[in-house]
Amino acid sequence: MADDCIFCKIIRKEIPANIAYEDDDVLAFHDIHPAAPVHLLIIPKVHVQKVGDFSDENSHIISKLVSASKHLAQGQGLYDEGYRLVINSGDNGGQTVYHVHMHLLGGRVMRWPPG
Ligand code: 5GP
Ligand code: ZN
Repeated sequence: MADDCIFCKIIRKEIPANIAYEDDDVLAFHDIHPAAPVHLLIIPKVHVQKVGDFSDENSHIISKLVSASKHLAQGQGLYDEGYRLVINSGDNGGQTVYHVHMHLLGGRVMRWPPG
């Protein structure tokens, strides 16, 4: 946990979020500025800044993010029509919150390549 991290504050319930899924390792909530009809953020409860910062000890959590994304996509009715998972890393990657998060975007056709 990091004291000044906005996503750690959401995990600690210090600031509100529209939570869609939670277990011991993972939290998912709706993005405050949705870029698609469904836009969820799936985060590890451990504070890891960037996806490349996972270690051998905790990289198994990445698979938990993916598992949660499947569960959420099914729950949102997106599984069959399709959806997009995105992890931005670093400034050029478009990362603005330095607590690893997977975007789950769906409910419309996604453009490729992204901007
Ligand atoms: P990034 O650009 O780092 O990949 O994505 C960060 C995402 O977090 C953005 O889509 C942004 O809208 C979202 N976000 C930032 N602050 C908050 C917040 O306080 N609550 C919620 N629910 N989403 C946030
Ligand atoms: Zn954090």
